[in-house]
Amino acid sequence: MFFDQERNGIRCSIILSFTDERIRIMWTKFWDMHSGGGLKEDPIQFIFIEAPADEAVVVFYNRFKHNPYRVTCSCCGEDYSVSCHETLLQASGFHRSCPMNKDGKYISQNRNKNSVGSLKKTPQGYQTAGEFRKRKDVLIIPKKDIKKEERHGVTPEQGYVWVD
Ligand SMILES: [Zn+2]
Repeated sequence: MFFDQERNGIRCSIILSFTDERIRIMWTKFWDMHSGGGLKEDPIQFIFIEAPADEAVVVFYNRFKHNPYRVTCSCCGEDYSVSCHETLLQASGFHRSCPMNKDGKYISQNRNKNSVGSLKKTPQGYQTAGEFRKRKDVLIIPKKDIKKEERHGVTPEQGYVWVD
């Protein structure tokens, strides 16, 4: 089930699981939207942080010193698309060309006749978690790699910053 959450100015489309009646959001994905025509952390396009969105945005800012919701170019919109997921597999499945099971969850295996749902073709085709992790445009920051001080601080609002 999908819905949008707005909390502390953090917008996130959240995938909820009611399997145990608790909301477990463990990973936040920052997908560079090429606002203004370039990658903000070139060559990285996808940054996965093992934390709920509001905390992950703080970690992001402390590490990269720019707000992911910054708008580099007003016609392109925000620098990153931010989304929250239960697991790294669900956060990355689309980009790994993983097939989905009948509940709409990505499964970590090459497509077979038992999988359903539309497989989004990517130039490289299906990738294992290991292959995906090694991509130059992917950065994965697990909980153990997040320093205590990176979890705290204020993320300043950053608006339109395009300079010709
Ligand atoms: Zn633009």
